[in-house]
Amino acid sequence: MVELLSWGRYPRQPQHPHAVFWADEISHVLGKIVETNKTSLIYGMGRSYGDSCLAVSNQVVTTQGMDRILAADWETGVIFAQAGLSFAELIQITLPRGWFLPVTPGTKYVSLGGAVANDVHGKNHHVMGTFGRHILRLFLYRSDEGIVECSRHIRSDLFVATIGGLGLSGVIVAVEFQLRPIETSRINQTSIRFGGLTEFFQLTASHDHTHEYTVAWIDCLATGQNAGRGHYIMGNHAKADIAHTHTQLTLAPHKRMKIPFDPPFSLINTLSLRAFNTLYYHKQQQKQISRCVSYDPFFYPLDSLKHWNRIYGHAGFQQYQCVIPQRDGQTAIADIMQEIAKSGSGSFLAVLKQCGDIISPGLLSFPMHGVSLALDFPQHDQKNTQLFNRLDRLVHEVGGRLYPAKDAHMSAEHFQQAYPQWQQIEAMRDPRLFSKFWQRVTQ
Ligand SMILES: Cc1cc2nc3c(=O)[nH]c(=O)nc-3n(C[C@H](O)[C@H](O)[C@H](O)COP(=O)(O)OP(=O)(O)OC[C@H]3O[C@@H](n4cnc5c(N)ncnc54)[C@H](O)[C@@H]3O)c2cc1C
Repeated sequence: MVELLSWGRYPRQPQHPHAVFWADEISHVLGKIVETNKTSLIYGMGRSYGDSCLAVSNQVVTTQGMDRILAADWETGVIFAQAGLSFAELIQITLPRGWFLPVTPGTKYVSLGGAVANDVHGKNHHVMGTFGRHILRLFLYRSDEGIVECSRHIRSDLFVATIGGLGLSGVIVAVEFQLRPIETSRINQTSIRFGGLTEFFQLTASHDHTHEYTVAWIDCLATGQNAGRGHYIMGNHAKADIAHTHTQLTLAPHKRMKIPFDPPFSLINTLSLRAFNTLYYHKQQQKQISRCVSYDPFFYPLDSLKHWNRIYGHAGFQQYQCVIPQRDGQTAIADIMQEIAKSGSGSFLAVLKQCGDIISPGLLSFPMHGVSLALDFPQHDQKNTQLFNRLDRLVHEVGGRLYPAKDAHMSAEHFQQAYPQWQQIEAMRDPRLFSKFWQRVTQ
């Protein structure tokens, strides 16, 4: 049987899967695992980078077979589905009917349950907040209570502990949430090249209020005059052209190239990175380009390459994603970028995003009003530890925090200070569920 890893393939701790297809199987399957292994965890599609989707026991319950739509109202856009359904499958069903996800992360290969448990955010955080804000109710299986319905009004204690609750409050069985209407499947996108962080902050201040989706790519290796240069990308759903309404809600073709095997070593090194970043920065020759693009490359550019995580070789990689409070955003991000550029390491995709001030109902939700920076590092034990220690200090000093869904290194001290409500989650935890992340940051 295939053993599972997390997306970063670090830490390399293979998980043994136990599949469930219907809600009433959960009690039996979980019970069997717990009989011999004490605890387990739910594994959605394994798109968490670090160890938050890895069970302490290495025995996980997989939910990909729990993938049915249970009810949908195409007048109001309220949909009710089992937690194993992926965003990719949801889009196939909702988009042709004129509805889209209210919030989506940068990959569509996530499950509904995983999106709730990590309370995912997207390029529209400044106007829509996190996914958790759009949930109307949840059904949760708990080993002490069976299946429980929860919402803002019914068992709200369980509701807020489950949104962003890292899969510890129980097994999410089904989710009801509100979709957002769209007139077409296309996005009017504008990309603006900028020379440094000051310009990025000016762009975000002038365009975020008129654009639902905004994000920036940064050249993480540029130094001196070029430090903080990048591309700012903004977009809105395109309106229907009255003459062609029937052809405008079209699904993107399903074409994916793939990395067929694990290279023995990482294909990402300082040389290839520097060349990629310089080429990518200059790829856009005009300062500003506008075009109308399909939703798929706009939201999910990385999904076109299946198993892209393999390019980092057997050792895997770690993502570093932090959010810095608004007040210190510009200076702290400049210091962090400087440390990264000095280290000569970092990713071909460094993503900067201005997060809004919309608060999530979830107790452990990651985003806060401020700026988020995310980038990938090939796994080199010593080099990463030294760099991450320096970055953690900078983040910690200004009251920022790291994203548990991406993390494989955060200390218990930093986690507990950044997420003071962790004790409420621990008190609500289903004792049968225990992740390697939770063990690392709470014990
Ligand atoms: C290319 C890429 C881009 C990404 N971009 C973003 C982004 O823009 N924004 C963002 O927020 N995240 C982003 N992510 C992270 C990703 O969205 C989250 O990690 C998401 O939660 C993964 O969902 P999953 O189904 O793979 O869950 P998994 O990784 O399998 O599990 C995640 C957590 O959910 C729990 N869980 C899963 N299903 C259930 C269930 N039924 N009941 C209870 N607990 C459950 C697991 O125990 C675990 O704690 C990105 C990831 C990738 C690979």
